[in-house]
Amino acid sequence: MVGASLACGLAEEAEALSIAIIDANEPNLEWDKDSYDMRVSAITRASQTLFKNIDVWDKIVEQRVSPYQDMFVWDAEGKGQVHFDSADMGEADLGHIIENRVIIKALHQRISEVSNIDLLCPKQIKNISFQDDKTELQLQDKTSLSAKLVVGADGTRSWVRQQADIAVKGWDFDQAALVTTVKTEKYHQDTAWQRFLKTGPLAFLPLTDGYSSIVWSTSPDEAKRLTEISEDDFAIELEHAFESKLGKIESVATRAVFPLRLFETLNYVKPRLALVGDAAHTIHPLAGQGVNLGLADVSSLITVIVEALNDKKDIGSLKVLRRYERWRRADNRSMLVAMDSIKRLFGSELSVVKDIRSLGLNLTDRITPLKNILMQQAMGLNAIKPSSHSK
Ligand SMILES: Cc1cc2nc3c(=O)[nH]c(=O)nc-3n(C[C@H](O)[C@H](O)[C@H](O)COP(=O)(O)OP(=O)(O)OC[C@H]3O[C@@H](n4cnc5c(N)ncnc54)[C@H](O)[C@@H]3O)c2cc1C
Repeated sequence: MVGASLACGLAEEAEALSIAIIDANEPNLEWDKDSYDMRVSAITRASQTLFKNIDVWDKIVEQRVSPYQDMFVWDAEGKGQVHFDSADMGEADLGHIIENRVIIKALHQRISEVSNIDLLCPKQIKNISFQDDKTELQLQDKTSLSAKLVVGADGTRSWVRQQADIAVKGWDFDQAALVTTVKTEKYHQDTAWQRFLKTGPLAFLPLTDGYSSIVWSTSPDEAKRLTEISEDDFAIELEHAFESKLGKIESVATRAVFPLRLFETLNYVKPRLALVGDAAHTIHPLAGQGVNLGLADVSSLITVIVEALNDKKDIGSLKVLRRYERWRRADNRSMLVAMDSIKRLFGSELSVVKDIRSLGLNLTDRITPLKNILMQQAMGLNAIKPSSHSK
């Protein structure tokens, strides 16, 4: 999602560039329309604006999106709860729940419309060599490419990052996320629901026709157990863990487990290389911000590259790329630290901590300015502006 968005943005903003996307895996672009992708993303208003700017948003909406107007968060262990309503901000919605495959298909439709992107897929890179004035790439099929700039957008286990010897600093998490799609007895009210259990957060994200996408974060062993029990038993456990907020769980689709990681790279750039998205930073899905942070990287990197081109600067030089790194690091790090703190706060068994978090949630619910700041953050409207980062 992140790498293809960058390519589409650069193709639009810098027509003189010649762009290649190398992806090891072929995307799934055809599916049964009655099914839902088990992977969905809560897309913020800021990411929606980027998709509009790169001519992808309409292609997404033509397929399927689920706007959500409300967010309801509550604590299983205490009495705290907070309710965010887009109407309080004078906005039509807080964001959209979108299947990942819908976003990827729209990006591929856009790629096929532009003339300055070469899609090399499925292709594996065999060798990468960073030189003073260019990067040389050799693919497994013996194709050679040379580029002024390589962008590593190859996800949390980034091969490019490893080849560039860029270290990561992470937190040990010991959590996994179980994902699936369910139909509930009661309508989800176009609300994103999240209950904090002591084992981790359980989210119900609204889809069309009363379906919801589930992200249930828990220990890896528990996640495995939850995929192995029968559908009926799973439905009962899920309903119980969710306090029957939406009544009975009427159907359960395929369940899958994703390991969760939390890290940031020590550098986002080096000469001739920039990292974006999960390759540069991976966070807990509890605030639904991972891909949104990656798309914010994309917006920043497009701005930095276009300005460098206009000023006749080398887009792969460290001086140019450092501007991107400075710009994005502060934003990404504050989100990483916030996610880690929230996870620890809600994982604590100490009664004093339980009292503090109940108080915190309830105060947040009552203090309108604070609530509005948090809503702006969730909508991606608080991102650091380029003007604060001199060239
Ligand atoms: C359960 C769960 C729920 C989530 N929910 C949300 C949410 O609601 N909102 C949100 O913003 N984020 C969410 N996230 C996070 C989000 O999914 C990630 O941040 C996002 O997928 C990262 O996108 P990316 O393009 O950087 O990396 P990826 O999606 O991992 O894409 C990497 C790409 O690189 C390719 N690739 C990998 N290795 C190579 C190689 N060696 N050579 C060539 N190509 C390669 C892959 O084929 C792929 O196309 C969630 C994550 C999880 C686990």
